[in-house]
Amino acid sequence: MKFAFYTLGCKTNQYETQAMEQLLTALGHEIGSFEENCDGYIINTCSVTAVADKKNRAVIRRCRREHPQAVIGVCGCYTQHAPEAVRALEADVLGGSGGRREFVDMMLAAAEDRQHREKVDPALRRREFEILPAGGLEERTRAMLKVQDGCVNFCTYCIIPYTRGPVRSAPVETVLAQARNLEARGYREIILTGIEIASWGVDLPGKPTMADMVAAVCEAVPSLRIRLGSLEPRVVTGEFCRRMAACPNLCPQFHLSMQSGCDTVLARMGRKYDTARYWESVRLLRSFFPGCAVTTDMIVAFPGETEEEFAESLAFIRKCGFADMHIFPYSRRPGTPADKMPGQLGNAVKEARSRAAIAVAEEMSRAYREGLVGSVQSVLFEEKSGEFYTGHAPNYVKVYVPGDGLHNQLRDVEILRVFEDGVLGVLKS
Ligand code: SF4
Repeated sequence: MKFAFYTLGCKTNQYETQAMEQLLTALGHEIGSFEENCDGYIINTCSVTAVADKKNRAVIRRCRREHPQAVIGVCGCYTQHAPEAVRALEADVLGGSGGRREFVDMMLAAAEDRQHREKVDPALRRREFEILPAGGLEERTRAMLKVQDGCVNFCTYCIIPYTRGPVRSAPVETVLAQARNLEARGYREIILTGIEIASWGVDLPGKPTMADMVAAVCEAVPSLRIRLGSLEPRVVTGEFCRRMAACPNLCPQFHLSMQSGCDTVLARMGRKYDTARYWESVRLLRSFFPGCAVTTDMIVAFPGETEEEFAESLAFIRKCGFADMHIFPYSRRPGTPADKMPGQLGNAVKEARSRAAIAVAEEMSRAYREGLVGSVQSVLFEEKSGEFYTGHAPNYVKVYVPGDGLHNQLRDVEILRVFEDGVLGVLKS
């Protein structure tokens, strides 16, 4: 049979889609594109904002309308959070954000007997980490490796702890075995990902730390580049940096989640640090990894955010000098404390503050890339782009070089100038 996937949301959801694709192909089934006629369609949903929920519903409705005979399965955080809404959209198979193997089994059974099936376990009661196959079906340059699931930080604007449950970590032996398997399959880079990877190990015997796991992975696959997913500032200590700096194949790019550069807003967000602690993390990373890329996420127009608070945030991001930023206007998420907070701001304010923050972010990104001119970067090439071949440097800056046939090659490139959303260079080797 042929199945197609539509995935919304984070790297962990994308990873789980790739894993479900592999489970199906391992059983002899085909994976088609969402636009073609298939026997079954799987929509892997996200519920991080009310906007995401709206997108989920639109995709499910369109799929049902265009493929009335097919088996449609909906899984992920939206089904976990609002199964009744998914049921009302005539999905045949419902699964939550866990139990991906079981969901695939339900899809196959429903494709045979056309019976409605659903299994949405209570996320907050989960205790096991579900081990799933790593790597994708297509290209073999960079692979995500999920090492952790769940979160217990309960930031006031976030629904994820309710849809993903408590922290569960993949045992280090499993992580190492999967990393070696990816190396054997020709991947050149691994991204260690999860919902909140800084908490990896808190649920394992002996409470090993994330640094223990990362150091073990770097040692196990020395020929691969190892990149870290999003980090919480609390994990960045002198000890952490000292150990990470001893890993020659760890990429010097740290996505250090910030969300706001103002202490009073951070407090309303329920974030577990203030700007002083955040700055300390940035300072430590730069002292152990000179020239590293620190990137981040920022929410603007959080409930009650005054002009003064926003100005403070802008000043703080300037101080941090990020290499890249993802800017998000606050989006109400029913079921979270922030949704009930006074001082909800209108779209005009959200748009104006997004524009202002994006302008600063672009300026800083350009300054960071200008700082690379004249340097030589080891670039992992991925794809053709017009007359150029593109790839990423260890700091995750996109690099363009004239040329062809460089897929999955690691080559030294001399950086000439800032170009498009990256830099332009010439091959040195
Ligand atoms: S750290 Fe906060 S924002 Fe991130 S997943 Fe956990 S609760 Fe959500």
